Amino acid sequence: MQQSKDKRTTSSKRWPSTSALLWLMQLFHRKKIARTSDDSRQLQRLRRFGQASLILLAYILSLTTFSLLGLIHYTSVYFSCGVLATLWLGFAIALLSGFNLRAADKTLSAQMAFCMLTVMATTLHIEPATQILYTPFGLLIIMSCAFRLREKTLLAVVIYALAGNLLANLSYFVLARDNHLLLTGLLHCGALAITMPGFAMLATRVRRLYRSLYMVSVKMESIEEHARRDELTGSFNRRYMMAALQEQKHQADSTDQNLCLAVIDLDHFKRINDEIGHLAGDEVLRTFAQLAQNSVRREDIFGRYGGEEFLLILPAVSLNDAYNTVERIRTLTEARLGIMAKVERKVTVSIGLTQYGPGESVLDLFGRADTAMYLSKTGGRNRVTLQEAIDATD
Ligand code: GH3
Ligand code: MG
Ligand code: MG
Repeated sequence: MQQSKDKRTTSSKRWPSTSALLWLMQLFHRKKIARTSDDSRQLQRLRRFGQASLILLAYILSLTTFSLLGLIHYTSVYFSCGVLATLWLGFAIALLSGFNLRAADKTLSAQMAFCMLTVMATTLHIEPATQILYTPFGLLIIMSCAFRLREKTLLAVVIYALAGNLLANLSYFVLARDNHLLLTGLLHCGALAITMPGFAMLATRVRRLYRSLYMVSVKMESIEEHARRDELTGSFNRRYMMAALQEQKHQADSTDQNLCLAVIDLDHFKRINDEIGHLAGDEVLRTFAQLAQNSVRREDIFGRYGGEEFLLILPAVSLNDAYNTVERIRTLTEARLGIMAKVERKVTVSIGLTQYGPGESVLDLFGRADTAMYLSKTGGRNRVTLQEAIDATD
């Protein structure tokens, strides 16, 4: 539970921040944007667009540096930057307004790659010195596409990048008739023809590896989730509860916070089984687990210890508040469990509640709550018994 909370905190801190992007999306939408899974996917696309924008910015900065060094004419920089800025604005509006949702590839990665490559090839046609930039930026584009595009589309981007480079070199030669430039251009083009497909293949393999690792982690999570759940009631099982109790004990030791534990046992359950049958008895257990789970806080940990016996760990709560919680579970069970489980008899629970005493062992804590539960049984059942904590550090 704690873990998933932590995960949420880290993801919401990612740059650009989720709330800033949500606010931007809101500007372009009439309806209120809720945090649905569709919205979060769209936010992810916007984040990726932010990453692609960094490639574009780096290209613009490189062009400006080339111009400052006198390698290319400043008008070429104005031209390229103007076209790129217009395209960037177009894509930003398409993503923020949700227009991209109509496209087959909602990330618009292929479209962005084709546009960027076209501008790079045109700039190369005007300024052959930008050949130096074409290779690294071309590879960057291929790499970012490899994680988002299908293999066929990626191949199309690679072919487009190579064809753009070749055409830019040839067309420059036709206009300027510069044999030396043509030769170096073609050599560059040849080098690209060797490296780009290899790079794309490598990036695709990395993507496949990444995907399979992701699938394995999803499966592992589901196996872990299965391993800590009780099959019948879906609540936490005994192994998980004992581990959680140990963890909460350490937490209480290090933070000086209160910790309460309740043992809950269904009354005369054997009799209930005999009267209504085991299957209906199972339904009573399932319904009780739901009822109890719905009656506790998010931070409380509820699970099945075994048979018709359940545990409730209540961290950072006073004994008085813990008592109110378990008393609520007792009264709700008495009033509603029979009706909820469609059983024509009243079902009750006996509860033992205690508080963690500093320094004591988990077994002592559990033993005291269990004893309190048995006192509820001998006291007439359908009641809560409190057992005071013992300070083991004295
Ligand atoms: P008490 O009020 O003293 O707790 O009496 P009890 O009958 O509830 O306690 P006892 O320990 O004598 O019997 C527990 C019964 O719970 C016996 C067993 O058949 C039943 N039980 C245990 N696990 C399950 C289960 O998974 N499903 C069903 N239907 N019954 C179960
Ligand atoms: Mg019982
Ligand atoms: Mg029992």
